[in-house]
Amino acid sequence: MTVRDDVQLDLSYDSVVRRFAPVIGLETHVELGTVSKMFCGCSTEFGAEPNTHTCPVCLGLPGALPVVNAKAIEYTIRIGLALNCSIAEWCRFARKNYFYPDMPKNFQISQYDEPLCVDGHLDVVVEGQTYRVGIERVHMEEDTGKNTHVGGATGRIHGAEYSLVDFNRAGIPLIEIVTKPVEGTGPLAPEVAKAYVTELRDILRSLGVSDVKMEQGSLRCDVNTSLSPIGVSEWGTRTETKNVNSLRSVERAVRSEIIRQAAILDRGGKIKQETRHFQETTGETRSGRSKEEATDYRYFPEPDLVPVAPARDWVAEIRASLPELPAARRTRLKSELGLSTEDLQQMVNAGVVEAVGETVQAGASATEARNWWMGYLAEQANSREVEPTSLPITPAQVARVILLVADGKLSTALARQAVDGVLQTGKDVDAIVAERGLAVVSDTSELTRAADEAIAANPDVADKVRGGKVAAVGALVGAVMKATRGQADAPAVRQILLQQLGVSE
Ligand SMILES: [Zn+2]
Repeated sequence: MTVRDDVQLDLSYDSVVRRFAPVIGLETHVELGTVSKMFCGCSTEFGAEPNTHTCPVCLGLPGALPVVNAKAIEYTIRIGLALNCSIAEWCRFARKNYFYPDMPKNFQISQYDEPLCVDGHLDVVVEGQTYRVGIERVHMEEDTGKNTHVGGATGRIHGAEYSLVDFNRAGIPLIEIVTKPVEGTGPLAPEVAKAYVTELRDILRSLGVSDVKMEQGSLRCDVNTSLSPIGVSEWGTRTETKNVNSLRSVERAVRSEIIRQAAILDRGGKIKQETRHFQETTGETRSGRSKEEATDYRYFPEPDLVPVAPARDWVAEIRASLPELPAARRTRLKSELGLSTEDLQQMVNAGVVEAVGETVQAGASATEARNWWMGYLAEQANSREVEPTSLPITPAQVARVILLVADGKLSTALARQAVDGVLQTGKDVDAIVAERGLAVVSDTSELTRAADEAIAANPDVADKVRGGKVAAVGALVGAVMKATRGQADAPAVRQILLQQLGVSE
């Protein structure tokens, strides 16, 4: 029986996970935020003119000799320690041989059977349950250059007239963080995968070792997925979904791959070991190339580099300098902000714990900080299909808006307009407020005039209020707010209206 590989059967996720147990694994590449490259002194700055940050080493010219970047080693050790890994007393680089047009040496300097950090773990919480994700290794390597295909409609090589290569990225320090297979998640495999990458990203950010921008590729994730029928201990054949570049996509990629594999297994088919590509538009994965085995790369120890043997007291020094990590910060914020476990979990799920913490640190009240990040900002993020923390607004700016509301200088409606302005222009809150004339009108004579106009325009409502239906005054408050484009102080308006109508509460 032949089974079409990319066929997407109409299986429900729930029906699949009742019959199959998923096993996932994640390989995450992170570009380190060092000033210079992994094996030469070239700048790592993003966005320079093509091929201006190059030298004989990162161009792979004959006779050029690499030298290891000490800062990159330090950063990798920081990451290893934060992930509870053992730091090798001695390790080596290895050559990984393969051809890529944007890789001038025709091999990548990586690490193979002697990585710098091994055997750690990272705990993540999903739906109140803690899952321990084992970390197999954290190793160092270098990035490749970048191809640009010109002349085609799609920017892909097919249909292009010619291709250009930019070696500015070649040799930028990369680390790869590889998990052990994660079993026992059952139906929550997609959520556990997303929670792991989220937690990892937050750790890397707090360590200050990378800017971890998934959308710019400084954090890229490959997701391995396999299925075995429930009750069968042997794992199924796994596929590797490459370069999943948002947190949301991590979850979607695992979910769709679980359904795809189940459809094939249901028809008696076999899963092909291969790499697959996640399609943002459809939320499905598409077949890539068949997966190489490690032996295909003919790894051997890199002869041009000395082994790396980090001194134990240096490792101890790095350990002592680690900042407060996200898990500890959450525990602290929970008690400092008086959050319930559910509140905290909701904030974790929304990915806004750090942002709320920083907003509070910048002077806002905990309740307001939480309300903004979980409310209006989450809505804005949702409509743009990004994470709230990817919005072009900083916690300090959010705190400024909150303070202006607390001081009575902005109403909630105006505060939202101020936030919209920051999101649209990237300017600061005070500049937006000044530019757009966003200020609460509390001038009594102006408000009284607006109140009189509202009463005159709505005689029926006015009569109701005079007749004792005080709640009806809301409609008049609304009219005044509208007339003042949301700039009036609503409680003050209400009081003035009642006064003009001769009604007391
Ligand atoms: Zn260079």
